[in-house]
Amino acid sequence: MSERIISAEWNAEDGTFESFRPRYLDDYIGQTAVKENLRVFIQAAKERAESLDHVLLYGPPGLGKTSLSMIIANELGVHIRVTSGPAIERPGDLAALLTNLQAGDVLFIDEIHRLSKSVEEVLYPAMEDYAIDIMIGKGPSARSVRLDLPPFTLVGATTRAGLLSAPFRDRFGVIAHLDYYTVADLTAIVLRTSSILRLPVEADAAEEIARRARGTPRVANRLLKRVRDFAQVAGASVVTKPIAEQALSRLNVDRLGLDELDYKMLDAIITKFGGGPVGLETLAATVGEESGTLEDVYEPYLLQMGLIQRTPRGRIATAGAYRHLGVQSPSTT
Ligand code: ADP
Repeated sequence: MSERIISAEWNAEDGTFESFRPRYLDDYIGQTAVKENLRVFIQAAKERAESLDHVLLYGPPGLGKTSLSMIIANELGVHIRVTSGPAIERPGDLAALLTNLQAGDVLFIDEIHRLSKSVEEVLYPAMEDYAIDIMIGKGPSARSVRLDLPPFTLVGATTRAGLLSAPFRDRFGVIAHLDYYTVADLTAIVLRTSSILRLPVEADAAEEIARRARGTPRVANRLLKRVRDFAQVAGASVVTKPIAEQALSRLNVDRLGLDELDYKMLDAIITKFGGGPVGLETLAATVGEESGTLEDVYEPYLLQMGLIQRTPRGRIATAGAYRHLGVQSPSTT
């Protein structure tokens, strides 16, 4: 997959963003309902000196699921182990992780929908009874031994909760959906990051960056870093709105945060498929992307912006999409 400046998925450059991560609930901007509920559950668990119930966070990439899991651990005052579904290949890998936890610790599993069935089965008793069953020996003398674990909190993150089996989902006491951020919240995030970078950014410039960040903090931070480069080379000590606008248009990010791939997708639906409906697989083949990536990463934002609609027969372009592309809509001809 080509690396897009507005891709919400993590890329290597984002590694330098660790210092931007909010550390406590009070630094975590937006997602008020999720945040305030977690605040109550965390305080209650602390007062009872118990581990927090298992938490499932779901929503598109880059919205702050990893950050929130680290905040949960910080607020609880416990350690966190960070791993991901694809990294836990065998049941033994999971057993090793679990037996190394201390009482109350957080185990964060990103992309939890990608755990294999055999690993998931080890996780069930671990979540429910804080115990795992391990096989000792081989052949006829093999026997299963139950091993007690310290109480712990599993925080799972996924882009699509629907990919988890119902019995798995039911084992989470707290299920929280993260939504795209408002422009106001993203503006606050841009200003917060700019102060960490010691980069003066005017309020309307921050808002311009926020508006084009696809509702996603990771994208907002990435755009800010690129805008900083343009400002520096132009010899500007303050990022003003014209500087931000110029930089963003050089980066080919339009005023709604759309880039070439979004245009390709909308253009394909409109010109190749007469406005739709067109199936996801066909669309993916036409624009040269994986259908899963289109569905999880790109399409949700286009749906949110009202540029496409999902119908049982496929995706259709809305009147808004025609307007945005400057193409006459068939309904107005
Ligand atoms: P996810 O795990 O959902 O892909 P991350 O937690 O890695 O997302 O967040 C991506 C980046 O966005 C983080 O490095 C952090 O700097 C920033 N971020 C995410 N959510 C917030 C927030 N609510 N407030 C401030 N910054 C945030």
